Amino acid sequence: MKNVILNNSVKMPTLGYGVYQIPSYDDCKKSVLTALEIGYRSIDTAQAYGNEKAVGDAIRESNIPRSELFITSKLWISDYGYHKVQNAFQQSLAKLQLDYLDLYLLHQPYNDVYGSWKAMEELNKAGIIKAIGVSNFYPDRLVDLIAYNEIIPALNQIETHPFHQRYEDQLTMRKYGVQHESWAPFAEGQHNFFTNELLGNIGAKYGKSVAQVTLRWMIQRDIVVIPKSVTPARIRENFEVFNFELTEEEMLAIKSLDRKASSFFDHRDADRVEWFSKLNR
Ligand code: NAP
Repeated sequence: MKNVILNNSVKMPTLGYGVYQIPSYDDCKKSVLTALEIGYRSIDTAQAYGNEKAVGDAIRESNIPRSELFITSKLWISDYGYHKVQNAFQQSLAKLQLDYLDLYLLHQPYNDVYGSWKAMEELNKAGIIKAIGVSNFYPDRLVDLIAYNEIIPALNQIETHPFHQRYEDQLTMRKYGVQHESWAPFAEGQHNFFTNELLGNIGAKYGKSVAQVTLRWMIQRDIVVIPKSVTPARIRENFEVFNFELTEEEMLAIKSLDRKASSFFDHRDADRVEWFSKLNR
């Protein structure tokens, strides 16, 4: 497995397994076990996904040594605030049945980001979170957080796929040593993603699928990927992306698919911010 080295020297697998929208306990536990059997060692969950217990049970049942795993969870905005983080974090740890997390993220750039970050910095210094980071932070919010705090986020997990490539965001992250991680690498199948002609033609040359070409394209851009699937054959397919390499021309050709806009929503949209504030997880 290829790794990236985060800005505090923590090693993180370039490819992980995401468990968003797997609400069923049985489906989630089974899928995580399948992923671990195939060879994934990094799992991305969140307080808001409601499946940390299933992830924890799968980890325990797998008998894989803790030191070989990289486990990420995220703090939900209803638990933001200096005095609330510790409790929310301990609840996540208890559900995951772990005594430390490898990575803990602020899930959204809303509410008391600063108080929460201070608490996360303390947990990081205490060693019970190996690295702390953010998610859905656009460059302006990211730079502001960096400017007024001690610890620079190790990573920013943002929507990134062929239709929203985030080259400019990545430049800002690079400038500050923040690792770029993609969520929704397949745009959750939107815009007929899985039958895209350009990606399909590139894949045909290597005997690879649209999904595999896309993951490979991001890995070659130094982006960490965490594809989600509950289908065992696809979980395996998404893991088999280390035995081919895209050419410069192919990397450039994929640039033409960039719509430079979210396929879901803009985090700066006022109605969306209000919607988030009413989402109690
Ligand atoms: P995604 O990985 O882009 O897409 C998942 C969809 O693609 C599922 O419908 C899956 O179907 C299908 N799929 C997966 N592999 C496939 C393949 N090889 N061929 C054909 N179809 C395939 O979407 P995502 O789950 O939203 O994003 C990935 C992870 O990012 C999440 O699980 C989560 O960990 C993280 N995430 C974070 C945020 C955030 O705000 N921080 C937001 C969204 C996601 P089946 O499952 O039916 O096989």
